[in-house]
Amino acid sequence: MKQKNFSIEFFPPKTPEGEEKLRATRAKLAELNPKYFSVTFGAGGSTQKGTLETVLDIKREGHEAAPHLSCVGGTRESIRAILQEYKSNGIRRVVALRGDLPSGYGAAGEFRYANELVEFIRAETGDWFHIEVAAYPEMHPQAKSPQDDLQNFVRKVKAGANAAITQYFYNADAYFRFADEVRKAGVDVPIVAGIMPITNYSQLMRFSEMCGAEIPRWIRLKLASFGDDTESIKAFGLDVVTGLCERLLAGGVPGMHFYSLNQAAATTALWKRLNLSA
Ligand code: FAD
Repeated sequence: MKQKNFSIEFFPPKTPEGEEKLRATRAKLAELNPKYFSVTFGAGGSTQKGTLETVLDIKREGHEAAPHLSCVGGTRESIRAILQEYKSNGIRRVVALRGDLPSGYGAAGEFRYANELVEFIRAETGDWFHIEVAAYPEMHPQAKSPQDDLQNFVRKVKAGANAAITQYFYNADAYFRFADEVRKAGVDVPIVAGIMPITNYSQLMRFSEMCGAEIPRWIRLKLASFGDDTESIKAFGLDVVTGLCERLLAGGVPGMHFYSLNQAAATTALWKRLNLSA
């Protein structure tokens, strides 16, 4: 498993208690020996400071850290300043995104799409950063068509990305087909699968509604049937997601990125079942 890249994502905590809790979560997840920890970024800059602080904490603890950077609502000057800050702190990876502006947020900023951000990062900082971009095996919800989305993805990679991380999905065929189409379009970067553990039915439905990830009917019905029985939801979720990861690994996925939601238990359970640290 060692030649594959396994990474874990956090969001920046908003309170001192949240910071404390994330530190404890990180200590547990660090035992799994992931390649790096990434930290999300609120579009419009809402969590910009939190992203930097969390990333620096991770680095101080001796782990590789990758800040996410979303460009919507930003200016060339503001993005340049963030890149310089990361560079001067020895950060070598970044996950480059367009992001989504919170509703009611007026200014669209100077970047329209993630490919413009990738181009800008390369123009400003050369090869300093290893750049990852987002990929959507089930299509980005705003795309005109899957073909259009694929072309936009290819453009973004050609702008200078080293790799991609997917939105989460529960249908392995969607991933394999997407990865195939990307190769046929002449792009050969690793497409790491984004993995969302299943621990909470209503939260999963809410997220999936927003980001366009499909929850297959049989999974949805089964989860709904458990009602408030969180132990059964977690046990079923662990089985389903373990099965998904096993298929992905058997099919040659180059890596997996775990959306931890700042919780250690579900990611640890998956990691151990799959023996990923071996
Ligand atoms: P883009 O690649 O710019 O694509 C956005 C849409 O525009 C797509 O429909 C695409 O087909 C279309 N498009 C792209 N380029 C062009 C073009 N040149 N012309 C016309 N149309 C185009 N959001 C955050 O706010 N913070 C985070 O930290 C964060 N982390 C994420 C991490 C991962 C791994 C993933 C998968 C998503 C993450 N997101 C995050 C969510 C992401 O910001 C949203 O999905 C957003 O709507 C799109 O971002 P993108 O970088 O994929 O955009």
